[in-house]
Amino acid sequence: MYKIVSIPGDGIGPEVVAGAVAVLKQLSTKHGFEIVIEEHPFGGASYDLHGEMLTEKTLEACKQCDAVLLGAVGGPKWEKLPHEHKPEAALLNIRKELELFANLRPAKVYDALLEASSLKAEVIRGTDFLVFRELTGGIYFGQPRGYDDNRGWNTMVYDRYEVERIARLAFEAAQKRDKKVISIDKANVLEVSQFWRNVVHEVHKDYPDVELSDMYVDNAAMQIVRNPKQFDVIVTSNLFGDILSDIAGMITGSLGMLPSASIGKHHALYEPIHGSAPDIAGQGKANPIATIASVAMMFEYSFCMPDIATEIYQAIEATLASGLRTADIANPGELSVSTTEMTEAIVRHLGA
Ligand code: NAD
Repeated sequence: MYKIVSIPGDGIGPEVVAGAVAVLKQLSTKHGFEIVIEEHPFGGASYDLHGEMLTEKTLEACKQCDAVLLGAVGGPKWEKLPHEHKPEAALLNIRKELELFANLRPAKVYDALLEASSLKAEVIRGTDFLVFRELTGGIYFGQPRGYDDNRGWNTMVYDRYEVERIARLAFEAAQKRDKKVISIDKANVLEVSQFWRNVVHEVHKDYPDVELSDMYVDNAAMQIVRNPKQFDVIVTSNLFGDILSDIAGMITGSLGMLPSASIGKHHALYEPIHGSAPDIAGQGKANPIATIASVAMMFEYSFCMPDIATEIYQAIEATLASGLRTADIANPGELSVSTTEMTEAIVRHLGA
């Protein structure tokens, strides 16, 4: 039995999470395993109900389950709240509370969508790499931080254990892939980056079968766009990973296609990388694939069932190959389908 907490959140969150839940139910019926899904409020939806973006009850439920499925949070309605009450703060908070120190984002190009990328098909065909972004340390959390009328300041700091644990995850993932890790830093300018590099190389001694190289972050931004096929596994700090994983994501087409996993020692949270898309919320236009692919990652990393993950990816590929497109991935002038129609087609391709 798998216990999943679903937190649909705001905007298109509930629409895309409904798609992912339909896929989970189909898989449960097809394979005969029991899945219990418990829904909890988070973000603006929670603020409106309880005056808090993240309640103790939601947090406790997330701590007690096998995996969390999150839609998206935020929107214009809550933008004016003070920084510490904003949905972004709640997102940082839930990651910190669940100790989700690694964010995994695959950048995989689907053949059926080669034309949806802003890059040439021959540059991106066959691209398949995985970004490990450190998620609970670095400049987003470092102290001191603040600003006054004349200065603003943040602190980029990493402890040895923080670098070691994410480096280990990246090397272990590489062992199951093409055995190549590229660690991305800015060691020519930042001492914290030199420290990062030293620790990654020390950890590498335990993984002699994996090839390790280093790349400066500015060069990496260029290389991802110039020749994405050179990458297998990338490991990098919080700030650099935030930026690079968005670049990596965009080469594969739409935001609506990109899943993610955030993993810690005891908990894991799966979510699409996109936000709550208030511009299309409630219109049935959202692409559910990123959230459905996040369920595939859940089977791979939380439930250790890579075959089911493959089944989900194959159902997505077959649906795309059949020509179905939501508006974000349709060519101009092409007919598009709704969130529900895309979901139903993927569920059909999963089979009974
Ligand atoms: P966004 O990702 O919500 O939207 C950017 C653009 O991509 C929009 O045009 C949107 O319509 C489109 N888009 C996004 N997901 C899509 C999907 N599944 N299908 C089709 N089109 C899709 O980013 P934004 O507009 O910068 O942010 C909107 C809100 O979301 C803000 O309040 C922001 O703080 C929040 N946000 C939340 C998260 C999260 O919950 N993890 C992440 C990013 C932004």
